[in-house]
Amino acid sequence: DRDVEIHDYDVVVIGAGGAGLRAAIEARAQGKRTAIISKSLFGKAHTVMAEGGCAAAMGNVNPNDNWRVHFGDTMRGGKFLNNWRMAELHAKEAPDRVWEMETYGALFDRTKDGKISQRNFGGHTYPRLAHVGDRTGLEPIRTLQQKIVSLQQEDFKATGDYESNIRVFHETTITDLFKADGAIAGCFGYFRSTGRFVRFNAPAIVLATGGVGKSYSVTSNSWEYTGDGHALALRAGATLINMEFLQFHPTGMVWPPSVKGILVTESVRGDGGVLRNSEGKRFMFDYIADVFKDLYATSEEEADRWYTDPDNNRRPPELLPRDEVARAINSEVKAGRGTPHGGVFLDVSTRLKPEEILKRLPSMHHQFKELADVDITKEPMEVGPTCHYVMGGVEVDPDTGMSRVPGLFAAGECSGGMHGSNRLGGNSLSDLLVFGRRCGLGASEYVDGLAGRRPAVIESDAEAAVDRALLPFSSATEGGENPFVVHLELQKTMHELVGIIRKADEMEMALKKLEDIATRTRTVAVEGDRKFNPNWHLALDLRNMLLVSMCVAKAALERQESRGGHTRDDFPVMDADWRHVLLVLEALGEDNVELTRKEQIPMRPDLLDIFEMDELKKYFTGEELGGHRADQG
Ligand code: FAD
Repeated sequence: DRDVEIHDYDVVVIGAGGAGLRAAIEARAQGKRTAIISKSLFGKAHTVMAEGGCAAAMGNVNPNDNWRVHFGDTMRGGKFLNNWRMAELHAKEAPDRVWEMETYGALFDRTKDGKISQRNFGGHTYPRLAHVGDRTGLEPIRTLQQKIVSLQQEDFKATGDYESNIRVFHETTITDLFKADGAIAGCFGYFRSTGRFVRFNAPAIVLATGGVGKSYSVTSNSWEYTGDGHALALRAGATLINMEFLQFHPTGMVWPPSVKGILVTESVRGDGGVLRNSEGKRFMFDYIADVFKDLYATSEEEADRWYTDPDNNRRPPELLPRDEVARAINSEVKAGRGTPHGGVFLDVSTRLKPEEILKRLPSMHHQFKELADVDITKEPMEVGPTCHYVMGGVEVDPDTGMSRVPGLFAAGECSGGMHGSNRLGGNSLSDLLVFGRRCGLGASEYVDGLAGRRPAVIESDAEAAVDRALLPFSSATEGGENPFVVHLELQKTMHELVGIIRKADEMEMALKKLEDIATRTRTVAVEGDRKFNPNWHLALDLRNMLLVSMCVAKAALERQESRGGHTRDDFPVMDADWRHVLLVLEALGEDNVELTRKEQIPMRPDLLDIFEMDELKKYFTGEELGGHRADQG
């Protein structure tokens, strides 16, 4: 049956994680009729899984912190490839967004004098992560949802209908965006439980669909992360940037196989946990790259003193940015100094008292006890890198979040630029709030600017979307493959050939394999009906994972240097001539992408001045530094 339920809205937000919810709240606050759509149950998004915290330079624990230090850390973490305007807005606005969450009813852990507590994390100069134990993500999601309910109650008072101005459509997957005259006109999808189709007519759409981890075999990401927003944006004519940069979190579980990849929070190291190889050596001291030499302790004694006296000692190297730690673990395992299950040891049991561990890391204690029968108060954990976060995403205007397609916005993990080549832990939750709000505002202003002249969905496009969604059922009669088989092949290809350490010949092989997988994806077949049919859901998601994987592989092959979440075995050094180059991808038809190079906009001189010339010289070419104070006498 080809029936389609139709709804009209001003702003449609696809995604109900932190970015989507914050965008929707803002759009509703600007008087826009807003729909929130999520593929999973309302409340289950990656945001809820966040463990360590939300980075904001509030200076509650160390008063030396401020937005400039946070900006500097973010740029350094991203190896100066970040969109500096986004990093600036993020560092400046994150504290307000965290405080605002408390006005919505959030409650973060407290310092002794009652302020919002802040914890240490990799790459952050000062304790900066607002947190709730090691289960932080639940609080923003709970609070943002509660805020939406309170807005619905206001609407009920005014209109007699709770859903008059803001409505949630959960377990609803969007598969197509519509345009008319080059601008957004609406979107199309299906209700997962019934399989029935739905269309939203709307002039503004905010993509907040999160990441792409399900294209890899070992990942901390759950089933939702199939790069839908990335692919929807590409097909609508938007561009993606930074897709070669994927963050492999250094510490995922490696055992037992059924839970391989599940995250072990960085808070374990922030709170004193250390990494050791099979010889018992604290190996991270051997992996401090030149650019970080002055900032990290060179002896165990100094590193240990830092926990109690951070102003007079340098940080432990276990708290280097994630890309550095992940590569170090990879090298130790490769050199034969790994654990029995192919990881390294992460030990907190000899570093903190059992009561402290249970208080600070309750989820990790529970996770290891339940899943691996390991008691982390008594024994070390075994950990290894896991595909965690995509730095790359939709190229957007930093201030409004709009892509190059009028009416199409993106926020959160599915947008690109903010984190450069590597994201610092804790900088995602704050990114969601800062840019979620900005996108909600940007979309509202865009709708106002249309002054009632809304693009109308073209009916033949709507029919074509129905055809595309139903295609896997007709392929069944032609003997197409099971989508799960093709998905496994895709994950294996990306994991083995475009993984944490990359080589040209392997990536060329990956691109060939992806072409073959594209042919197979076009004809995957699904049996049964449309009611909660996981094979059908995967068949449709697979198109997105494939397109996104092509972007990752193409960009990774093109970038001939190593930087952040992109490590080339054949080009192991970071190259200043590549720092200002962005790799931009656009779609060529259904399952092909084209790559072009684009120059990064030079950093504003007042922002350059935040750094010492000596540090900038490690990243920038000489001629880029003309605007710096040190160069102007
Ligand atoms: P999400 O929260 O993932 O939400 C995406 C939404 O989009 C979901 O509602 C999903 O259902 C929906 N969606 C996707 N595709 C479609 C579609 N086609 N149609 C309709 N809806 C769709 N970051 C930190 O800053 N600090 C941390 O401590 C931290 N810990 C983490 C721990 C884990 C285990 C993981 C996996 C990540 C962690 N991160 C952390 C990263 C951070 O949680 C994510 O980057 C962030 O939550 C992404 O938020 P988002 O709003 O962009 O997307």
